[in-house]
Amino acid sequence: MIIAIDGPAGSGKSTVAHAIAERCGITYLDTGAMYRSVTLACLRRGVDLEDAEAVAEVARGVRIEFGNGDAGQTVLLDGQDVTADIRTPEVDRNVSVVSAVPAVRSAMVALQRAVGEQGDVVAEGRDIGTVVFPNAEVKVFLTADAEARAHRRAVQREGGDAAKDAAAQADTASEQAILAEIRRRDELDSTRKEAPLRAAEDAHHIDSSSLGVEEVVSEVIRLMEEAR
Ligand code: C5P
Repeated sequence: MIIAIDGPAGSGKSTVAHAIAERCGITYLDTGAMYRSVTLACLRRGVDLEDAEAVAEVARGVRIEFGNGDAGQTVLLDGQDVTADIRTPEVDRNVSVVSAVPAVRSAMVALQRAVGEQGDVVAEGRDIGTVVFPNAEVKVFLTADAEARAHRRAVQREGGDAAKDAAAQADTASEQAILAEIRRRDELDSTRKEAPLRAAEDAHHIDSSSLGVEEVVSEVIRLMEEAR
């Protein structure tokens, strides 16, 4: 079974998808981590991100693998652990330009489909239900208002978890900066030509603004049972 979870930045896709993978014993596929890894490889090599051909060349050449670490899933870029390095503000700022390049997308989509061929997968991203796995048995479009998403990300950056601690606070200035960055990234991801962020017609919409992780996870598991 394929479960596709799409939605904007910070809507809780990773937390939910990861929880489902653990609980159901199926593979978790974080497609955002793949676009982030390509972006990091370009930045490290000093590739001009406006040069689509050069960026595509990097995407076709990198080796991206997922592993298991003490603190959860790890991401390896050409054999090197980049789990933390792909989540920096610099990667946040540049990833949408890289992911808008059609040849980058086709390289990543091929890798993602190969994972889907190996067995049950819960995949999260922007185009999973529309492009990568249009026949996914369960499709979810997870949203939350931008302020709630910025708050979660800001708390996460400071080492907390807003999903577990409703009273968690983050520095207001950094929360505002993250809010602006999230809005900019959503705008770029939703308006690009190739595979823009949008809900599949048959996706179930879930707004997580005022829902806990457990409530969203239960709802997705209910949809999985319904689809069996
Ligand atoms: O989900 P995450 O915030 O890690 O995604 C980082 C970026 O990767 C997104 O802002 C988007 O530009 C790109 N992305 C994409 N398609 C996906 C997943 C992520 O274009 N399926």
